[in-house]
Amino acid sequence: MTATTAASSAYIVAALLFVLSLAGLSRHETAKAGNAYGMAGMAVALVATIGLAARDGDALTVGLIVVAMVLGAAIGIWRARIVEMTGMPELIALLHSFVGLAAVLVGWNGYLSVEGAPAAEAEVLDLPVGIHSAEVAIGVFIGAVTFTGSIVAFLKLSGRIRSNPLVLPGKNALNVGALVAFAVLTVVFVVSPGLAVLSGLTLLALALGWHLVASIGGGDMPVVVSMLNSYSGWAAAASGFLLDNDLLIITGALVGSSGAYLSYIMCQAMNRSFLSVIAGGFGNEGSTAASGDVEGEHTETTAEEVAQLLRDADSVVITPGYGMAVAHAQAAVADLTRTLTDKGVQVRFGIHPVAGRLPGHMNVLLAEAKVPYDVVLEMDEINDDLAKTDVVLVIGANDTVNPAAAEDPASPIAGMPVLHVWEAESVVVFKRSMSTGYAGVQNPLFFRSNTRMLFGDARERVEDILRAL
Ligand code: NDP
Repeated sequence: MTATTAASSAYIVAALLFVLSLAGLSRHETAKAGNAYGMAGMAVALVATIGLAARDGDALTVGLIVVAMVLGAAIGIWRARIVEMTGMPELIALLHSFVGLAAVLVGWNGYLSVEGAPAAEAEVLDLPVGIHSAEVAIGVFIGAVTFTGSIVAFLKLSGRIRSNPLVLPGKNALNVGALVAFAVLTVVFVVSPGLAVLSGLTLLALALGWHLVASIGGGDMPVVVSMLNSYSGWAAAASGFLLDNDLLIITGALVGSSGAYLSYIMCQAMNRSFLSVIAGGFGNEGSTAASGDVEGEHTETTAEEVAQLLRDADSVVITPGYGMAVAHAQAAVADLTRTLTDKGVQVRFGIHPVAGRLPGHMNVLLAEAKVPYDVVLEMDEINDDLAKTDVVLVIGANDTVNPAAAEDPASPIAGMPVLHVWEAESVVVFKRSMSTGYAGVQNPLFFRSNTRMLFGDARERVEDILRAL
């Protein structure tokens, strides 16, 4: 068997493992196996690729690849070990930016070694130069949009810049204009490849990526993260064409299409237009004005009063959010669940699809704290029962329980499905202050007559309630 045949076979095995990985990751019970398939696939792919490089290149090239890999792996393991669950989305956004940057560099390298190289030194291609130039232009464009888009997402998610949408005058025209300019520049580059055109195209894409994500408000960030995941896949696929690497094309397409599908499902779950979100909040101008001027009196309560309320209840629903993750309250919440269940109270959880800072965030925390799967229900499964519930404990959630989304058409989060906690007989909101949630929108729930505010760190307050029980 030649080295090329061996590598192709290994690539097919790796591609199959990646498909199995995606299938595994689609269910809680099989997610661990899905991860294992993915890691095995990547190991096979790396060995095959280094093998090919060893056949084609000199010892120095192989040495450089191995050094880069070891360094990358060391940094990756270090980051993965120290990252908090609450910091995962920004880490993922940062990693997407690396994929985008790599695609830009691969594109530029393609240009410099073919179209931009002196005729005597130019790489010999087995495809028409025009096609190669188009690949360079498309690869650089997708990569640069992914790069700056992901950097803005990282800055927004980590709170380094405000999550409010940027509203430039004529922002939709700017985006459409940038796409038209990209098409024109690509044609010019194919006809007459040159440094100036490629530089212009790169700068244009960098600006477009920045603008697209800067224009999207906090409430839509979950979809943006998954959309950038999709872009990073397409960027990798574009690099695969340039590097003539089939596995990179397949892997990129898998990531690109699964990310796009996840974005679509999330848009449906949040009642958002998919096109509007991928086009940088297209058509959302009217709803960006903050409707944060909700005013009224809120009523405070104490842990002892909440303990009494829970003792008297037959049914309790807990709706956790980002604040539960910040407070590391999941173990205390699991203890509270067990204590109440032992006293004969029916306790269930209502999980909003974007509660926390990444899809599935709450499910992972509750599973870690050993809360049984069967009492953890999705929003659609619990919403109809909330009106028949005695007490809802809103633990560090805010946007996901905001009645304005259902009742105020002028709200920036209007139309986003939320947990109808206000329909329960009593609601207790655990938070530290009256400040807004991630979307920056005030929450009228806090001023309802059946709502009590329990201020302080969620873990400490839940532990106080446990003591009082
Ligand atoms: P929110 O961000 O809306 O609210 C979190 C609440 O937790 C705040 O009210 C905050 O209030 C409170 N809180 C923070 N720390 C503590 C603490 N230590 N103890 C008690 N309370 C605390 O969270 P939700 O989960 O309700 O909504 C998620 C939001 O994040 C949505 O807007 C969603 O779109 C967005 N998002 C979701 C992503 C995803 O994929 N799931 C990704 C990116 C964004 P206070 O400061 O007063 O304590």
